[in-house]
This record gives sequence, structure tokens and C-alpha cells, in this order.
Amino acid sequence: MALLHTRRLLAAPRLASTAARASSWWSHVEMGPPDPILGVTEAFKRDTNSKKMNLGVGAYRDDNGKPYVLNCVRKYVTVQGISGTGSLRIGANFLQRFFKSSRDVYLPKPSWGNHTPIFRDAGMQLQAYRYYDPKTCSLDFSGAMDDISKIPEKSIILLHACAHNPTGVDPRQEQWKELAALVKKRNLLVYFDMAYQGFASGDINRDAWAVRHFIEQGINVVLSQSYAKNMGLYGERAGAFTVICSDAEEAKRVESQLKILIRPMYSNPPLNGARIASTILNTPELRKEWLVEVKGMADRIIGMRTQLVSNLKKEGSSHNWQHITDQIGMFCFTGLKPEQVERLTKEFSIYMTKDGRISVAGVTSGNVGYLAHAIHQVTK
Ligand code: PMP
Repeated sequence: MALLHTRRLLAAPRLASTAARASSWWSHVEMGPPDPILGVTEAFKRDTNSKKMNLGVGAYRDDNGKPYVLNCVRKYVTVQGISGTGSLRIGANFLQRFFKSSRDVYLPKPSWGNHTPIFRDAGMQLQAYRYYDPKTCSLDFSGAMDDISKIPEKSIILLHACAHNPTGVDPRQEQWKELAALVKKRNLLVYFDMAYQGFASGDINRDAWAVRHFIEQGINVVLSQSYAKNMGLYGERAGAFTVICSDAEEAKRVESQLKILIRPMYSNPPLNGARIASTILNTPELRKEWLVEVKGMADRIIGMRTQLVSNLKKEGSSHNWQHITDQIGMFCFTGLKPEQVERLTKEFSIYMTKDGRISVAGVTSGNVGYLAHAIHQVTK
């Protein structure tokens, strides 16, 4: 309606100048009948009878005739963010304004490069805890537990919910359980960053296991999500920031403050990507198809890891490359040294970050042989 109205206004001057030419082409267009269901609601709204009842629409109402929001839903406040990055920034600003007990955010070492400026620009201080062991190319679990046990109480710890970027190294479920118990003991606020749900195992529920476990344990959690990767909506910038609250009343207060934070930043998020995401999630056939496609993407990456290792063996490499298949998600921390990375780029035109991280999503059955050959040449 609003759009039509605007068009009519925009067209008005031109119409006036050509008014003599002909009468409207559309004078024969008759008023269409009201939609059988929505028309009932329109008629209901127009009715001024105080006893009016709308029994036309199949949407659940409570005993006061009001739309019913389930209580479990009320405990989450979720606001739409500008993809993962924008959602993290809303969260960082929210913590800066309302998390009074500490400025310190503890990041895994290493973490996604943008975490530092996001939190720093929001006025928070960055600290780190051990996470990755370069010697084994795997999780430094005892180092992480040791460092986390020394984090001052009521600080913030950031955890990658799954498919850790850049290392591709995630805790196993038993390790997550131990981490959760420790975090609870230290009374830390957990900031989960979930940018790759589905990319670790191919199963969105399995990849959300850690987040759900922490919430079940009664740990205070905030969460940033991105739909860029798992829905292929990179440029649409669809994401979400969630605060788990203790009750509906708290959720309302938090939501009001999130709106106040967002209003001077970008007022409102874009609609299109969020509509696509919501349509996929709420249309049973699309949701089913999406889950199959997420698994397809994750499986292709897992397959490439296996092929890379078997091609390295074929090349005659004697190194232990098991971490390539042990690690999960889009990225693989190869363990290649900066000088080896430089040779790969100079001699083989293979580009990657200096820390030796490769995006396995860029490897195909057509180029995996070439990649293995090149890696072997610079590591033998
Ligand atoms: N968190 C992590 C760990 C990421 O790797 C990324 C993207 N590289 C993001 C957040 C941000 O994602 P988006 O592109 O949706 O802003």
C-alpha cells in the first residue's frame, strides 16, 4: 500500500502534463474481493462493537484473547544484527554499557582477527587464554583449563561455539562439560560466537550442543550468530544477538536497552536476508532441503581434508598430517611456517594467511592434488 501510494505521488506531475492525452488506462479496474481469511480480520478491525470476536484466523490466542508468546520464548531476547560482525558489535556495546563488574573479555589464543577491534572499539579490554597448541596442531585443553581457572570472577570469556576460526580445533563434548563446570565455578559471563553452525559436523543441532549445554547448566550466556555461511547469505548480512535472561520481565528491560543501543547505530536492520532466513527456517520443505545442503557443504569439506592427506602421502610426505582430518569446519591450521607459506605463494601461486591457515572450502577434487604436491615441495 505504502509503495503504491509513493508511486502515485511520484507520478503525479507527469500525469498532470499529459492529462489531455487520454483518460486513465485503469478506469476499468474493479475493486477486488477481500481475501477470504485476511478480509475477516480487516472487517473485524473496522467493527466498533465492544463484544467483537475474531474467529477467522488460526493463530493461537490466550484466555484474554491476546496473542500468546510462549514463556520460554520470552526468556530470550534476540535482536537482528548486521550478520555475525554487527551482532558481535551490538553485544560488545551492550556489555560495555551494562556489564558493570568487568571490562575484560578473554579471547582464545588465537581467535578470529576481528574480535579484538570489535571489543576494543566498544571500549572493552582484551585478554587471552591458551587454546591451541602449535606443537600438536590441536587443542591445548590443560592450558585452557589452567588459564580459565585464573580468570577473575565475573569476567567475560569468549568461546567459539563450533568450528573455531582460525584453528579448526574444537573441544570434544566431555571437554565442553569440564569447561562449562569451570566457567560456572568462576562465575564468568560466556559470550558464544557462532558463525559456522552446521559447518563442523554437518548437523546444526550437534553444532549447537555446547551452547545448549552451557544454558542448561544455568550459565549466563550471550550469543552472536551469523547466517552468512550456513545459509550462503554472505552479502545479505543476516545475523542475531541473543541474551538469555532469567525471566520475561528482565528480557523486556534488556530488549528495550538493545533497541536504544541500535537506534543511533543503524536504526533498523535490512529486511531481505532476514526474510530469506526466516522463510527457510519456517517452511518445513525448505528447512529440510537446507539441512541437507548444510550437510552437503560440511561433507564436501570433510572429504577434501581426507583427500589432501592421502595426496600428501602419495607425494611421499613423511610428516604426520593427521591434524588436517582431526580439525573441523571451514578452516585448517596446517602448521606451515611463514616462510613455507611464502614459498607456496611465490612458487605455486597458492595464497593463504601467513599463519598457515587454509580455507578448506577453496579446495576441490580438481586442485587437491596440486595443493598436496606444493605443500610437499615446501615441507620435505
Ligand atoms: N565470528 C567468526 C569466528 C568468524 O569467523 C566470522 C566471519 N569470518 C564472523 C564472526 C563474522 O561473520 P559475518 O561475515 O557474518 O559478519
